[in-house]
Amino acid sequence: MSQVVKKKFRCHPEPNECKGCGRCVNACPKKLLKLGSALNIMGVPYAEYVGDGCIGCGACFYTCPEPGAITVFEITGEE
Ligand code: SF4
Ligand code: SF4
Repeated sequence: MSQVVKKKFRCHPEPNECKGCGRCVNACPKKLLKLGSALNIMGVPYAEYVGDGCIGCGACFYTCPEPGAITVFEITGEE
């Protein structure tokens, strides 16, 4: 008997790699990213992952112009 296990994902934008362009905020189909009010070391607001329900689509990752700013990963185990 097969069992369907729904995968869970999470996104992590790295504050000090982000230049605050907002592309990922617009790209996320689940509206899980936003620019906060705090500033990073470059003095710009940075993207934050808010809430949960990331589907792992990668839209934020592919639209981000900063290599290494966004990581999308699968959540494994009990979380
Ligand atoms: S992987 Fe997709 S659903 Fe998850 S935060 Fe990025 S754009 Fe949103
Ligand atoms: S697309 Fe990249 S650089 Fe632009 S706000 Fe999102 S994480 Fe920051």
